Amino acid sequence: SGVSSDAPAPRQPGQAMAAGGNYLIQPHDIQAGLDGNQFFPVYQPKISCFSGQLVGFEALMRWRHPQLGMVPPDKFIGCAKNSGLIDALTRRMFDLSLEWFAQHYGSTSVRLAINISARSRLDDVFVEDIIGRCRKCGLVPGQLIFELTETSAMEDPVASLDLLTRMRMKGIHLSIDDLGTGFSSLLQLVRLPFSELKVDKSFVITASQSSESRQVVQAIVGLGQSLGIQSTAEGVEDHETLQFLRDIGCNFAQGFHIARPMPADEASRWSHFSFD
Ligand code: C2E
Ligand code: CA
Ligand code: CA
Ligand code: CA
Repeated sequence: SGVSSDAPAPRQPGQAMAAGGNYLIQPHDIQAGLDGNQFFPVYQPKISCFSGQLVGFEALMRWRHPQLGMVPPDKFIGCAKNSGLIDALTRRMFDLSLEWFAQHYGSTSVRLAINISARSRLDDVFVEDIIGRCRKCGLVPGQLIFELTETSAMEDPVASLDLLTRMRMKGIHLSIDDLGTGFSSLLQLVRLPFSELKVDKSFVITASQSSESRQVVQAIVGLGQSLGIQSTAEGVEDHETLQFLRDIGCNFAQGFHIARPMPADEASRWSHFSFD
């Protein structure tokens, strides 16, 4: 009963198009996008800072809208969260990425990271469903990382602890995304069963220019080291920053200097990063 992607429903003129051509995304647009299969993942490699080897991919959502062109996630994730459509989008991301990932990286140590929004109703049924689908396509749950932003994990730390602990017990890895951008109680944060800290890109992008940024990055990586949690720096845009991350013992790196997010066919040909 979906609308076919090459025959989008005609838009009511002036209805949702704000002045200046700045289109305001409405829930029905997202629903139409789901029905028309307009959402798809791109994959950004994550490497070991030491060997340059591929350790994983982060799946990032893209929306190819028939009239608006490519709509970046920042423009619609908020609306999806508020309207309850985020669950359907998250499921779509799993549907589209699990098989691709299993086909190319099944029985390897490469991991697939998926962004999860706290407001999702990620109950045990959802988790069991994902694990069942992993089994069916030859993946182990330990190859999956769910990335939760610091702020979403701390929205309801008690409920988070409960659900995240059950996910972790099933073998799924958890990552704290955008670390350093919230104002969380560190004590509550480190009680959650995360296996990765993701240093927010705002600090990493500015690391080569700003000693304050470098100090924040180093402090977060140090926190991870003392807790026995691996760190990933996202937003690595230059060689100096990658060198700095190696010097301070950051485990993993992701960013435009290493590779941009890529469509599936391109991502499956990507093998490693060469230092020189
Ligand atoms: P995020 O999870 O922090 O993802 C990293 C963002 O940084 C991505 O933006 C990526 O393209 C960008 N990035 C990567 N390397 C660099 C770099 O070196 N420099 C700079 N300036 N940026 C870099 P993107 O794809 O536009 O996604 C933005 C945000 O939207 C994500 O931030 C995430 O919070 C959200 N998002 C994306 N896909 C999904 C999804 O499937 N589900 C949910 N719930 N959220 C998603
Ligand atoms: Ca992320
Ligand atoms: Ca992030
Ligand atoms: Ca830079």
